[in-house]
Amino acid sequence: MVRDNAAPDPSTHDRYRAVTRTNIDRCSQWQRLDPELREAVMTVSAVLPFRTNAYVMDELIDWDRVPDDPMFRLTFPMAAMLEEHDYQRVRDLIRAGAEKGEIESAANTIRAKLNPHPAGQMSHNVPHVDGEPIPGMQHKYRETVLFFPSHGQTCHAYCTFCFRWAQFIGDDDLKFANKEAGQLRRYLEQHPEVTDVLFTGGDPMIMKAKVFETYIDEVLRVESVRTVRIGTKSVAYWPQRFVTDADARDMLRIFERVTESGKHLALMGHYNHAVELSTEISREAVRRIRATGANIRMQSPLIRHINDSADAWADLWVTGTQLGCVPYYMFVERDTGAKSYFELPLAECWEIFQAAYQRLPGTARTVRGPSMSCFPGKCHVLGVSEVAGEKAFVLEFLQARDPSLVRRPFFAKFDPTASWYDELEPLSASDEPFFIRPEVPTTPLTVRDGHDLVAN
Ligand code: SF4
Repeated sequence: MVRDNAAPDPSTHDRYRAVTRTNIDRCSQWQRLDPELREAVMTVSAVLPFRTNAYVMDELIDWDRVPDDPMFRLTFPMAAMLEEHDYQRVRDLIRAGAEKGEIESAANTIRAKLNPHPAGQMSHNVPHVDGEPIPGMQHKYRETVLFFPSHGQTCHAYCTFCFRWAQFIGDDDLKFANKEAGQLRRYLEQHPEVTDVLFTGGDPMIMKAKVFETYIDEVLRVESVRTVRIGTKSVAYWPQRFVTDADARDMLRIFERVTESGKHLALMGHYNHAVELSTEISREAVRRIRATGANIRMQSPLIRHINDSADAWADLWVTGTQLGCVPYYMFVERDTGAKSYFELPLAECWEIFQAAYQRLPGTARTVRGPSMSCFPGKCHVLGVSEVAGEKAFVLEFLQARDPSLVRRPFFAKFDPTASWYDELEPLSASDEPFFIRPEVPTTPLTVRDGHDLVAN
């Protein structure tokens, strides 16, 4: 049954209010930022999309810690996210009062350098129904289809590290939108090997319940689908979605319909930091979602300046487990957008993962990582070791286009600076089959949903 009780008192934050470049100066917190920081926000947000909301501003950011506060870094653009000369160019245009078109043109030039659309997503994974491509869908692994509903291509706030930013700046060619829920059903019916459907975005929970239901209705008609996954950051950025939004109960009833149909419903909750689970409303959202029979699995990339410590991860996983969520994945930040600002070398990612994992109780050791969603699959860094006297990364695929590669340990030459799969070299000839490059060398692609990201 959908819970009616225990709703937090309605507060001023119950109505969603987006905070963007155009209205940030009307927020009381804006004046707390020093002028240099304000200029940086206005400059970088002319290039990268910026959106946060009143709940994040009022409840999650600790303004006494700004600019180092993790939630501030997660949603506010910073000068170092752009190359210095790019930053100066846009800043100088703004200072000089340049025309909007001139600023936009400079911004487009910079965006083009930031690898906004890791391309294999477009070319390698698009499925077909009756000979027609379905651009709102990806089928990379045998048992899982990713679906990008056209109505779910935005988010309650934008993460500064997110490679999906290209979708938010109005470039239609980059959208995977597909509103044809019927096409999804037909594809699933023609592919009974698909047991899992992952709704992703953007954020599918941005949709009204009645819109989301049109997609779910079609999926529920397909018997071979056993698990419905929803990749969402709403549990962190806007937990009101499940508590006080006008159609919160309708959404929870849809969840119940899925679980009552005998299918498993998994919310792939994108939690970057334990502070996102510190508010009463975020915990109430977890309780209500779980009361529908759905599970919440927690996943996040490891991001410099935001969660780059073992303490942060252990805290997140222990807190989540206490609330009944399942720690699932730690991802490696990928090669797009402001990667150089956020990335960490793989060796460091592994050290942080290991140190956090060692502090967990067994119930929280469900988590895997650090994992790269790269072209051939999900590449898991198992550790650093020595093989025949040579230092090496020990790796495995948790998921792969070629299922025969899964869970077979292999080795790469140790490189303390490597931060992604395609920077690694096989340790020996026997490791070479595991180093698969995309056919188009300029498209170092991956399939991830918007939150990783994700568990495909
Ligand atoms: S990580 Fe998820 S919530 Fe954040 S901007 Fe990307 S798609 Fe949106």
